[in-house]
Amino acid sequence: MVASHKVIIIDDSEDDREFYSRLLHNAAELDGVRAVESGEEGIALHEERRADCILLDYHLPGEDGIEVLKELRALDPYTAIIMLTGQGSEDIAVAAMKAGASDYVIKDTISAVGMRRALKNAVEKCTLRRKIEAQQEEQAKFLQILIHDVKAPLRHISTYSEFLKEDINSKAYDAVPGHLDTIGTAVRRIIGLVDTLALYSFLEGNIEFSPVCMNRIAQVVVGDLADVIKERGAEVLIGPLPTVKGHAPQLIQLLQNLINNGLKYNDGPTPIVSISAVPGDNGVWTFCVTDNGIGIPDRQRIDIFQPFVRLWSRDKYEGTGLGLAICSKIVMRHEGKIWCESNLGEGSRFCFTLLEMAAEPD
Ligand code: ADP
Repeated sequence: MVASHKVIIIDDSEDDREFYSRLLHNAAELDGVRAVESGEEGIALHEERRADCILLDYHLPGEDGIEVLKELRALDPYTAIIMLTGQGSEDIAVAAMKAGASDYVIKDTISAVGMRRALKNAVEKCTLRRKIEAQQEEQAKFLQILIHDVKAPLRHISTYSEFLKEDINSKAYDAVPGHLDTIGTAVRRIIGLVDTLALYSFLEGNIEFSPVCMNRIAQVVVGDLADVIKERGAEVLIGPLPTVKGHAPQLIQLLQNLINNGLKYNDGPTPIVSISAVPGDNGVWTFCVTDNGIGIPDRQRIDIFQPFVRLWSRDKYEGTGLGLAICSKIVMRHEGKIWCESNLGEGSRFCFTLLEMAAEPD
């Protein structure tokens, strides 16, 4: 069953309104059915409560059904609108579909089951379209920023290669190592970006869930980050963590990004990052990765989960701006939520939820 839907019926016939209301009220997935007798009222109601689905009678006295449809469509491109037409009105049905109807049904011949099916299909179709368009928009934005981020180091490589050529030609060899360092840094930035990007798109693939011991995952990550931890003189504390339903490689990536950020965005002499978990209702666990680092200003705390959002220049803290976007995607794929709490200058806490799952017997 699809999630609960708000429905508006627009029909001038009281009998028909009553009939459709009864018919749809029996459908468990409907959240509230409201019936009105004119297009004008329907448009006002839709403006006020933004319905998921509208049943619109074509023959409304004194109104043009297609015009009403266009006005409703203009209010929300993703509402499922089903046109109710009479028998033998194929031309109207075609015009309605052209004007943005999601489907049409022929009055008097439609059964209760048929009507509910039409409604469910129309809502699913619109929901899918909304999702696809949002994804396309995100991809376009992503690509735009990516092009910008790759162009900058490429430009550096091109410019410094020219300097290199000039200095070699004029035998000014002292400047050569510096130019090569700059080129090397730019190349590493592109490689880092491409690697992270590969990871980001890899998250879209099919994954299978199994019991994952988060204590073991945290230990793997701490092992992988051993050099950074040593170099920073940091401590990583792992509390007792549960076994959850998840995909181990993605959960390693999640903890790695969060712990790494806790160590990176930290100017103190001893960075401390702790990982803890508390149980909630219905087997939902909230995990927290807490650090004593630089913190994040209030107004930027939501934005940082968007791809390529960075709060500092690369000279101060190296990064691609994709780490938290990857975390957000991983948590979403695990049907969880992720958020951040922080006190500027005192530290940050990144929390996410995962579902408990009994460990499989060894
Ligand atoms: P980056 O590759 O820049 O680290 P992220 O997506 O991991 O990208 O993080 C986005 C931004 O959020 C960072 O540039 C940084 O400004 C901020 N940030 C992330 N984690 C922390 C943290 N633990 N403490 C302070 N700031 C953080």
